[in-house]
Amino acid sequence: MIEIRNLHKRFGQNEVLRGIDLTVCPGEVVVIIGPSGSGKSTALRCINRLEEITSGKVIVDGHDLYDPATDINYVRTEAGMVFQQFNLFPHMSVLDNVTLGPIRVRRTPRAEADRLGLALLAKVGLADKATAYPDQLSGGQKQRVAIARSLAMQPKVLLFDEPTSALDPELVGEVLEVMRALALEGMTMVIVTHEMGFAREVADRVIFIDQGRIQEEGPPDEFFGAPKNPRLREFLGRVR
Ligand code: ADP
Ligand code: MG
Repeated sequence: MIEIRNLHKRFGQNEVLRGIDLTVCPGEVVVIIGPSGSGKSTALRCINRLEEITSGKVIVDGHDLYDPATDINYVRTEAGMVFQQFNLFPHMSVLDNVTLGPIRVRRTPRAEADRLGLALLAKVGLADKATAYPDQLSGGQKQRVAIARSLAMQPKVLLFDEPTSALDPELVGEVLEVMRALALEGMTMVIVTHEMGFAREVADRVIFIDQGRIQEEGPPDEFFGAPKNPRLREFLGRVR
């Protein structure tokens, strides 16, 4: 579903990604961890072409993202992104936030978009909030709306960049619960998070990025149980 080959990304003199290779299979859940500033967000943003790249290849569902011939708007609908700061439109109802993409981008008729939107809000436990506005919701509810909004585009892949980092601790669980359900349904997901318990439980594979490179990867038992890279051991010691 995703293939990244020898990806390099430089901001001026700062080489942030120094040769990332990563393959994600359909239905796989990959969790990325690593210190602040190590390039996790940048790597994720390259999977959606939110960044231009310096060199390498990023292929999503067979489409070469950085080939000038590729229709980027089409590709962006294939990989949905969920951000730390929800990015909901404050002047639009919850349902309108969810249906905007399908109506504008996919040209879905409003009645059909509303039907799908309501079903997705029910799925994230917010059927009763369809007519509410974002500022009437808690952070956890906002993030669940943001997930429903991404799902409304029927993406092949969902990318999460620290989806619970802006939440009060007691609201983290409800968002992780929705993500866990998506994983069980077979959604392909790449998740940057500091939630180690979630990674251990839900990830098929965990990846440690440090200094712009993948330093270690493996199934969670092995990754957390017997980390080999000294910097990973040090990192786990700090976050646990
Ligand atoms: P992480 O998500 O792991 O904390 P980021 O991918 O956000 O790390 O950032 C990696 C490095 O790239 C940092 O040094 C950051 O300052 C730099 N960086 C990120 N985005 C930009 C940008 N738009 N312009 C310049 N430097 C950037
Ligand atoms: Mg980041």
